[in-house]
Amino acid sequence: MGCEKMKRCPFFAKFKDNFGKHYQVIIQSYCQGRLSDMCKRKKYESEEGGLAPDNLCPSGHYSKGQNGFLILVN
Ligand code: SF4
Repeated sequence: MGCEKMKRCPFFAKFKDNFGKHYQVIIQSYCQGRLSDMCKRKKYESEEGGLAPDNLCPSGHYSKGQNGFLILVN
């Protein structure tokens, strides 16, 4: 189980090894879990027709994480 875009997804590539617990929860829930179809990156790319910004989280928030911390901004 997991997202079909995982291997070429910039968000996944950038944050999959981040030690921050919030990133791991998001990745486990969306990229590797049941919420994959609800990913806002997919929605963005479907509606906008281009790649979503690297820091657009699957939840629809934008991350400004540093040193393993995740700060969500709208
Ligand atoms: S961020 Fe979205 S598109 Fe990327 S791997 Fe995770 S669920 Fe798939």
